[in-house]
Amino acid sequence: MEIAIFSSTPYERRYLAEANANGHHRLNFFEVPLTAESAGLATGYPAVCIFVNDRADAQVLEALQQGGTRLVALRCTGFNNVDLEAAARLGMKVVRVVDYSPNSVAEHAVALLLAINRKIYRAYNRTRDSNFSLDGLIGFDLTGKTVAVVGTGKIGRVFGKIMLGFGCEVIGYDPMPSREFEGLGARYAAPGEIGERADVISLHCPLTPTTHHIINAETLSRAKPGALLINTSRGALIDTEAVIEALKSGQLGGLAIDVYEQEANLFFRDLSSVVIADDLIQRLVSFPNVIVTGHQAFLTREALTTICETTLQSATAFEQGQTLENEIKAP
Ligand code: NAD
Repeated sequence: MEIAIFSSTPYERRYLAEANANGHHRLNFFEVPLTAESAGLATGYPAVCIFVNDRADAQVLEALQQGGTRLVALRCTGFNNVDLEAAARLGMKVVRVVDYSPNSVAEHAVALLLAINRKIYRAYNRTRDSNFSLDGLIGFDLTGKTVAVVGTGKIGRVFGKIMLGFGCEVIGYDPMPSREFEGLGARYAAPGEIGERADVISLHCPLTPTTHHIINAETLSRAKPGALLINTSRGALIDTEAVIEALKSGQLGGLAIDVYEQEANLFFRDLSSVVIADDLIQRLVSFPNVIVTGHQAFLTREALTTICETTLQSATAFEQGQTLENEIKAP
């Protein structure tokens, strides 16, 4: 099947080519993201393959459908960028990669936590400049601290398991509690207790209308002073302006994010020679206690292999009229 792959990168092309070693599909790569302006590139393609910041709203889906597209394959887990109701109305199928490697994202969340707590990024920069001073590099022992996991699904559970290994008390919040989470030795807690007790809060829930800005001025005011906040899930879980205020006041002790609400305008490209107009990200990266990575939590060899294989398996299943195991539908 002809597949138009939007937001494609050189490293993904390699993994997609390996997954398509039998040459079953014809993969056509477009570096541009899918938007209302670029949707026309997919004319004549029965399938499009998109990533986290491609836009598949009603307008874009209508344009794709008019061009003959019937399948939208997300090569990621989150699907907040697709209007599922519009897809259903237009008779289009939407698939994602449900479970590629929860370890990749959970381990990145741990890496961010260790780096922000022990100021690894500051030490790295200092020692490269022959500055071996330790001023400003004090962290805290993780063992014995309380770590809150918001969203105890696949990634949240792996993250919780790792933190239990560090000797932390792990508490969680999820409207759909999981026995597996409790079986690890963690327990569920009300949002009030999370705010009161958590030294570290790590976000692992999807972005939905309910979770939009789940971290806001009000929730931050109830957080334990000096708590660290980690977000590897979706940028809009956090009200960035409120977080900046909490960092300025010291209410928040540090922030490490792999995702950012306005990341679609920034991430996955080299803007080092450009004047960035987004004042919020510029303010964030100016803090000594903030780390930003550019949506790379999934970026392991294992995850990329599974993402590409699953995506092409879904395309084959669609082409052959089989049941789509990874289909997502409007609730
Ligand atoms: P999952 O579906 O297994 O788990 C999500 C959990 O969040 C579920 O248990 C769900 O009940 C819970 N949840 C829903 N609403 C909630 C709320 N209001 N409060 C607390 N919990 C809530 O998903 P997963 O595979 O663990 O992935 C989690 C998220 O991680 C994805 O939605 C995606 O946005 C993000 N993600 C990021 C990257 C990255 O590279 N940074 C990669 C993959 C996934």
